[in-house]
Amino acid sequence: MSKCKLCNRKGLFFKTNKYGLCEPCTQTLVMTLERDKEIFDDSIELINISKNIDTKLSRIEVIEEIGERLLKYEKKKIKTVDPKPSKLLKSIPSLREDTIVRHYKKYFKSEIKKIKDYKTSKTRIKKFQEYYNQIEEHKNYLKKPKALDKYLSKINDLKDKEL
Ligand SMILES: [Zn+2]
Repeated sequence: MSKCKLCNRKGLFFKTNKYGLCEPCTQTLVMTLERDKEIFDDSIELINISKNIDTKLSRIEVIEEIGERLLKYEKKKIKTVDPKPSKLLKSIPSLREDTIVRHYKKYFKSEIKKIKDYKTSKTRIKKFQEYYNQIEEHKNYLKKPKALDKYLSKINDLKDKEL
């Protein structure tokens, strides 16, 4: 007698395939995987090309959600993606860290330039402060938060010059 690993239905004439799933569960899984693959690929692309750190970080969250969604299959020993969802989830913190560090490496200078272009000193100070706060917040995601300290001290220098 076979039993579906997902819905737990079973019976004498109940059929499961080589993955141990019944037909409706297989179809649902295939559809889920197709959709998740699309979302995953889109997200990776955006993480690589977007200039907006919030967009990148929210896309990393999306990938994390996919990993969590697929983890329930892994727990039932149903193969879905390679690397396994649990492995994908484990890689999220370092993906987040790399993304943040690379972002500032690439865009810090141009962001500073943008802020310097504001007309009044008051606005510039405000913008410097906002940027400072953003970097501070992103430090929380890092195992090595000191990696962003040089940007913070640079902003402080620039802000001091405005005073
Ligand atoms: Zn089923």
